[in-house]
Formats: sequence, C-alpha cells, structure tokens
Amino acid sequence: MSSIQLLPDLLINQIAAGEVIERPASALKELLENSLDAGATDIAVQLEGGGIKRLVVRDNGGGIAREQLPLALMRHATSKIASLDDLQRVASMGFRGEALASMAAVAQVTLTSRNADVAHAWKIEAADGTQSDVTPAAHPQGTSVEMRELYFNTPARRKFLKSESTEFAWCEETFKRIALSRPDVAFSLQHNGKMVWQLAASKSTPSPYPLPEGEGFGGLPSPSGITSDLPARGLSRLASSSIRGIEGEEKHSLQQRITAILGPEFGQHAVNVERQIGPLHLYGIAALPAYSRSTRDEQYFFVNGRFVRDKVLMHAVRQAYQDILHHQRHPAFVLFLDMPPEQVDVNVHPAKSEVRFRESQGIHQFVFHALQDALSATMGSTASNQSA
Ligand code: ADP
Ligand code: MG
Repeated sequence: MSSIQLLPDLLINQIAAGEVIERPASALKELLENSLDAGATDIAVQLEGGGIKRLVVRDNGGGIAREQLPLALMRHATSKIASLDDLQRVASMGFRGEALASMAAVAQVTLTSRNADVAHAWKIEAADGTQSDVTPAAHPQGTSVEMRELYFNTPARRKFLKSESTEFAWCEETFKRIALSRPDVAFSLQHNGKMVWQLAASKSTPSPYPLPEGEGFGGLPSPSGITSDLPARGLSRLASSSIRGIEGEEKHSLQQRITAILGPEFGQHAVNVERQIGPLHLYGIAALPAYSRSTRDEQYFFVNGRFVRDKVLMHAVRQAYQDILHHQRHPAFVLFLDMPPEQVDVNVHPAKSEVRFRESQGIHQFVFHALQDALSATMGSTASNQSA
C-alpha cells in the first residue's frame, strides 16, 4: 500500500466535476442558474458542437466585480450562503460554489463581467488549474461565461459524451426546463450559429403567475379516452433554421411561455391547477388524457422554482391520473409547488434535481388532491356534455 497523500486541487476539482459537470447540459444548467441568481432578465445561450466544442451563456445580471473574478472560479467560493442557517433556507439556485471551479478543471473557461458602476468589463481565463491575470474587456453590464472543449484534458470522460445531436438535445431540454420556470426572463438559444429558440419576457415582473383554477386554457377539453397522435418531441421541429416561439411585445404569462415551449395542442387539452393551503401553493397546467404521451418527456415539476424529478411528486401525479389514463400512457404537465424552503432539502445531490421533503406524506396528499380535483372537475363536465 502506498502512503496517504492530499490530492492536488486540480485533481480534486476534476473529480468533483464528474458529479457537477457530467455533460454540456449540466454546465448549461449551472450557468443559467448563475445568471438567474444574478438577477438577469435577458439570457442568451450559444452552443457549438452540442455544447462540447463551445458553450456561452451571456446575461445582463448584476455582474462580478474585478477583484472577485479569480474567486468566482475557486472551489467552495460563493456569494450565496455564508452559514448553516443560510443553507437551511437557501433561496438561490446555486450555493455550493462548485460549478465554475469544476468547469475550469475540465474545460477552458473565460469569464467576462461588468458590474454597474465601472467604466468597462474585465475578464479572466482558466484552464488546467491555472488562471490568467484579470484584463480589460468589452462587455455590457452583466456576465458571459464561455466554456470550450469540455473534457479536453480528461479524454476518458470525453469518450462518454454522446453525439453532437444527443448532447444538443440534452442542452435544449435543460434550456426548456429553465425557460418554463421563468416566464419573466427573456431567453434565446443558438446552435451552430442558428437561432433555435427565442422567448420574450412577459411584461409583468413578479414570477411565477398563479392561474385561476378550472378556467381551461386555449380551448375546450376533448372527450376522454382519445389519445391524440401528436408527433414526438423533436419531430415537431421544422427546418433547423426556423425559429420557434418568437414572441412579440405583448404581455406574456406562464401560459404563453408554456404554449411557446410545448406547443398549442398542450394548452388546448389542459386544465389549470391551483390550490393553496397555508404556505403550500401548487399551480400550473396539467394535460387531459387526450394529450397523453407515450414517454415521460413532457413532465415538468418545479419545487420553489427548481426543476425536480421526485418520486413522491411523481407518484402523487400518477395516482391523480390513475382512473382516467391508460397505464401505458404518461401524463403531460407543468406544475409548480412553492413551499417554505426549510421544509424541503435541496442539498441531496450536486445536480440538485432530487429533493427531500420534511413532510413527504402531507406533500403527496396535497398534490394528489389538488390535481385530482382539477382533473375531475373538467372530466366530469366533459362526461355530462357528452351525455347531454
Ligand atoms: P454558486 O452558484 O454555487 O455560488 P458558482 O461556481 O456557480 O457557485 O459561482 C461562484 C460565484 O460566482 C457565485 O456565487 C457568484 O457570486 C459568481 N457568479 C457566477 N456566475 C455569475 C453570473 N452570471 N453573474 C454574477 N455573478 C456570478
Ligand atoms: Mg452556481
């Protein structure tokens, strides 16, 4: 046996990067969350080669001061929490101070930023465990993070990346999740120089937008039991140069963002869900069986604004649909659960898509009943319309 040694920082960061930056899409998620945490209202993403070759996220948020640029790239350096107390009520998307350091350990990273009251921007570059000096740069207020050649120095990991189109598809999914969660923010996504998504911000600022229950949205529900033959996600993409979801100056709401991202059919076969009990608030849109899917591709659940995949929530949803949906079909929904941060632990996994509820039984019941009531109200009226 060889003797025990402390690992060098670069290696520590490369090991950590395996968890935090698994693929381009995970880097994109971290960067989009950083931009939102910085208060950005406009976020532009540029990808090349599925995000492996180049991935840039540019925002108009608060920016990073010149002397903080080197710190931003260091492990366990964060401006978001300072104590265990903060950790228990964390409201920002990030808090681990790991993302940028991990990226800088497994890719070439350039961080360019300008905060409010300075004459120009500053930038810093990092790769292979070394940082450049901070030098002047041109950039409007906000931050751009550019990541190039993911895993260039860890070839074994690079081999695990999939094709450019698969990695792009993951990036696009990540982009959609975050864009769904913030209709008040403008987002765009370009791949290999082509605009793929352009989503205008809704005018009214505070997000998210609770919707009145049972009002339907977009159209009348279809008779139950009919499953529509909608094209699978991805097939609905027109020529790759076409721009989906272009939105004008008009006021945008959560519904409009959902329609822009999931298409009008979803809204035409969906009900609004809204219920508030004490500090628990569930709202969003759930598709009727007429718009069920053969895969789980349109299931979006957000807890305190964060996309999650959670067994308790999924089970509650499944149960609410169990009498109306064929067991081989999957419901489509976009649901938001807001609750006191101290009642949910988001610190379960570095990628933070898992959560742990303090009262999981109560959450399950709450979600199940809210959804079941919203669905049965509409399904019931559909049934009576048919018999009339
Ligand atoms: P975390 O988000 O967990 O704090 P990161 O490594 O993602 O860790 O970022 C480190 C720090 O860099 C953040 O705490 C923040 O202060 C700063 N930062 C990162 N991205 C941005 C951004 N887009 N705008 C402003 N500040 C940023
Ligand atoms: Mg972060």
